Amino acid sequence: MALIRERDSKRLHIKSKLMGESLVSKSFLQSLEEREQFKALPDVNVLKIGGQSVTDMGAKAVVPVLEEIVQNAREHKIIISTGGGTRSRHVYSIALELGMPTGVIAKLGQSVSEQNALMISTLLMPHGGIKVGHDDIPKLAAYFSQGCIPVIHGMPPYGYWEHLPTQGRLPPNRTDVGAYLLAEVIGARQCIYVKDVNGLYEDNPKLYPEAKFIPKIGVRELQAMNLDDLVVEWAVLDMLARSRSVKQIQIINGLIPGNISRALKGEHVGTIIYNDQEN
Ligand code: ADP
Ligand code: MG
Repeated sequence: MALIRERDSKRLHIKSKLMGESLVSKSFLQSLEEREQFKALPDVNVLKIGGQSVTDMGAKAVVPVLEEIVQNAREHKIIISTGGGTRSRHVYSIALELGMPTGVIAKLGQSVSEQNALMISTLLMPHGGIKVGHDDIPKLAAYFSQGCIPVIHGMPPYGYWEHLPTQGRLPPNRTDVGAYLLAEVIGARQCIYVKDVNGLYEDNPKLYPEAKFIPKIGVRELQAMNLDDLVVEWAVLDMLARSRSVKQIQIINGLIPGNISRALKGEHVGTIIYNDQEN
């Protein structure tokens, strides 16, 4: 590789397309041609098991959901990403009261989603369940070739460096975001959110049972609706709008038997939110 020394500043460069660039210039970034993103695991399905919506309901929800996953694991490669739920909310409320910064609150949330990953991977052990950490992502192909069902905790590893929210101090990137970004980085086949509602409504269906169901919607259209409450974290929409690989997500009701199997087959079961603009 050629080395180039600037005549005036004496800066040393290695010849490449990015040579000497600030990597911040908008016009430069726009002009940069990139090869299409490589998909490392295009046949893997990321399944996020909700903390509040599934795990916290205990055996009556968790056992049938895991049974359905096991039934499908021979045919479909599945990685489970776990949410936090009620224990996260409890520790968040104490932390807020004690004036904890966002980065500390994010660390607290991480340990709760890890608790759920430990329980779910333990229950799946007789069927190849294996709890994996964030550093194990490059090993996933090996785990799948052994017939494993990897379980990863869903909180993205920003931790103390968690991005600041526009309002309040709660971490904006929680386990829904973690599941989506995992799907993106491995180039997954799909990203499915297993929750306790049929999908997205125009308002929280638990508080407003008359709220209209939305079976399919573009992410920008949804953002423009400016809803008050949402079935996934707001930041998932921002990430999906910038997607390079996983161009849609599906939210399904995992408490209805058969829904997980149908979604894994690629059927439209709940709500699909898709990227309505080519990036
Ligand atoms: P998880 O535990 O999977 O993270 P959450 O409880 O955080 O799930 O989010 C799912 C819940 O979001 C649903 O049970 C529902 O009560 C609520 N919700 C709020 N707004 C909406 C909406 N617009 N459409 C559907 N569900 C909504
Ligand atoms: Mg949630």
